[in-house]
Amino acid sequence: MITFLSGGTGTPKLIRGMRHHLPDHEISVVVNTAEDVWMSGGFVSPDIDTLIYLFAGLLNTSSWWGLEGDTFITHNELNRLDGGEYIAIGDRDRAVHLIRGELLRGGMTLTAATARLCMALGVTAHILPMTDTPVETVVNSGGREIHFQEYWVRHRGAIPIEGVRRRWTVPPVATPGVISAITTAEAVIIGPSNPITSILPILECRGVREALEEVPVVAVSPFIGHAPVSGPAAALMRARGLFPDSSATRELYAGFLDFFIHDSSDPLEVSGAIRMDTLMNRPGVDEALAKRILSLVRGG
Ligand code: GDP
Repeated sequence: MITFLSGGTGTPKLIRGMRHHLPDHEISVVVNTAEDVWMSGGFVSPDIDTLIYLFAGLLNTSSWWGLEGDTFITHNELNRLDGGEYIAIGDRDRAVHLIRGELLRGGMTLTAATARLCMALGVTAHILPMTDTPVETVVNSGGREIHFQEYWVRHRGAIPIEGVRRRWTVPPVATPGVISAITTAEAVIIGPSNPITSILPILECRGVREALEEVPVVAVSPFIGHAPVSGPAAALMRARGLFPDSSATRELYAGFLDFFIHDSSDPLEVSGAIRMDTLMNRPGVDEALAKRILSLVRGG
């Protein structure tokens, strides 16, 4: 079993490559849930949705969110009537959010609701929410705290941010399934995900860092030079007082990391790191990168 720690864009690209080398049932994915949000009566879990749709063969891989070919009839009508739905939720995507919302309102855990959705969509990979404890990433902008989704989706990341933190009522605890997916894995792969909003929320769940010390761990950098391949990772690293680069990313994972990979074209040197072609925007790169990582952890 190979276990990934994942957000919703960079790591899923690597997982797509790994599916050429491993059957889905030998892949576990511990998924960030700190970007989850209730919307229009449904529960949106953006990173979990991306993973479910990827394994179900339904994902829109141009945007890395939502279903390929989905329609937006309900979203458009809701906004015509009221204007409050700032996330563009497709019609079929919404069905998943509504079912998940109903299951959660009925008292089911997010872990059980995810398993139920995976079964309904024929997904055999193990998709595990990092925790069943509600937790959210909030950013500080102009002295006001707003949910990460508001910053990134409503404001398109175009407002300055001065801080970022996790908000919870009780500290998040990793589920037993997450801990066992890590400790029984042949290796854990932290794909090229946003360190601040995708990976740190997982590492902050009680039990995760200790579990990672027991297994080989590989991480892939989402930065080339001082810029991420996509998304708001640079602004978030700065909001956390860090440089947006591969060295700072590696520091965040120090303590349990065995191999750190950054891009062959990265102009910055990271001592002890391995260079590989990590830009998965061309056909075959994801598959080749996954193969090289597998042989690295298998001693090849
Ligand atoms: P989110 O949940 O949508 O923010 O997605 P993730 O956290 O999983 O992924 C976002 C990160 O993936 C960004 O910081 C990007 O720089 C990185 N990323 C996206 N595509 C690639 C790629 O092809 N190669 C590398 N190295 N990083 C990538």
